[in-house]
Amino acid sequence: MRQLTEQEIRAAFVNRTKGEVKRLSLPRDLADRPWDDLDYLGWRDAQAPDRAYLVTELDGRPTALAARCPAPAFWGARRSMCSVCLTTHVGGVSLLVAPRAGRAGQQGNTVGIYICGDLSCSLYVRGKKDAGVGARLHETITLEEKIQRMMANLSAFVAKVSG
Ligand SMILES: [Zn+2]
Repeated sequence: MRQLTEQEIRAAFVNRTKGEVKRLSLPRDLADRPWDDLDYLGWRDAQAPDRAYLVTELDGRPTALAARCPAPAFWGARRSMCSVCLTTHVGGVSLLVAPRAGRAGQQGNTVGIYICGDLSCSLYVRGKKDAGVGARLHETITLEEKIQRMMANLSAFVAKVSG
């Protein structure tokens, strides 16, 4: 994706009020993120690690959302699959829960999705990060197709949050 500025990211949040967006913490190393290999940028709040944020471009427009996302549970070493990029992790998948935009969210309405706990789906799909033996299915489809599928999964989620 295209490299986004701090202003663009703050302006892109769909499920936070303007005041909240002003206060939320963005990565300090935005310029150093591997944008060329990212389909979305995900990060955790440095002060509150169970808060997660992600920003992506939908139809060329930056769209960002804020969510609760407890760190993955490592006990029991259960295998589970990220529903965005379909990578299987042993204890490395988190349930990300985002309040829906607008009134629905204020009334406590949320949408959840299982996602790579380090929010690095793009890098797993491209083989730039390795989740271990058996983490990725051997598939005959191209990388481009895998990326498209991941984006379809992510956009469907973002659409549910945006309402
Ligand atoms: Zn993933």
